[in-house]
Amino acid sequence: MNFHSFLHHREGTIQKWLKPEDFFNLFPCFVRPIKDELTSSWLYRLAHAHHLKVFTFCRIALNNKTVWNRDIDKCITADLLYYLSIRNNITFSEAFNTTLKSYEGILFNTLNINGGTNWISPLGIYHRTRTRNSLMCCPSCFKECSIIYYKKAWRLSLSTICPKCKVSLIDHCPICKQPIIFHRHDIGNKNKIENSNMASCCNCSFDFRNIIPENVNDRDHQNQVILNELLKGKSHFNLKAPTFFKILRIIIRVLNSRSKFAYPFQKEVFKQMNIRYRPSLGGYENQFEFLNILRRRELLNMSMWVMNHWPNRFININNTSKTGGFIWLNDKNIPIEFEKVIRENIVKLSS
Ligand SMILES: [Zn+2]
Ligand SMILES: [Zn+2]
Repeated sequence: MNFHSFLHHREGTIQKWLKPEDFFNLFPCFVRPIKDELTSSWLYRLAHAHHLKVFTFCRIALNNKTVWNRDIDKCITADLLYYLSIRNNITFSEAFNTTLKSYEGILFNTLNINGGTNWISPLGIYHRTRTRNSLMCCPSCFKECSIIYYKKAWRLSLSTICPKCKVSLIDHCPICKQPIIFHRHDIGNKNKIENSNMASCCNCSFDFRNIIPENVNDRDHQNQVILNELLKGKSHFNLKAPTFFKILRIIIRVLNSRSKFAYPFQKEVFKQMNIRYRPSLGGYENQFEFLNILRRRELLNMSMWVMNHWPNRFININNTSKTGGFIWLNDKNIPIEFEKVIRENIVKLSS
């Protein structure tokens, strides 16, 4: 079965009414995912509810030894999700909502299982470890929530701030600088899970709840609030969420480009925003998903500033900086609405 079949044909019948025989299908300590929880975080809590390490639980209960060797938030199959939904007495869509695939249709058209996808931070998987700072968390949320869990949005490169706590997210341990890899708590310490704490560093055990969170300014916070509302499907700047994210991505690309054709546009944005101009570094590591939290926040803020009062400010910056329309039009993912703005206002093309 695929995701579409489960979501559209069986949704109404899945666990609608629990019958006596269904009771024996449930896990002994079933755990429901929290509304905005990430699949891997839910699996971790599920395993620990059974007093089992994540690897043992997945091997025994899911008959799956490879869950933690890949990006399970991205790659989990429809069949496994269905199995988890039955065993935890939730609907298939509740289980599906924990996955990064649930952003399809809003952040991207199709999630690429085997490669990179725009807005998804790549884990850099090496066996059971991760080489990249790809998972983020909010130390304040950990401090305040009764249940420690990881949010789905903490895997997105557009997340740099916790909209609820108004503080910066972290993407690595401030003490030992290692990435956040909570399932690695369950490696070693044979037969012991007491030491396992999702709120702490898997390498040096530093508890992230001891971090004094970095406050952010009102403008940065407001931008993150807007981005998170768009993730839920709301419109902003007169643009529907899928179109907004496509345009945002293209503007980020140009603002972060090393092409000499992008410089006039970049310089004009820096000038109008009263920021000192710094050219981008370029290269493979300059890809948006690979940048650190501060640089991503800067690019998001600049791009959203350009998109404010859409499309007037954008047209004005293009015309003031004498930027040719081709730097936008050569993007293969350009949405029709954006292309129309360019063709009608920025470059007059002969028919
Ligand atoms: Zn928070
Ligand atoms: Zn550490």
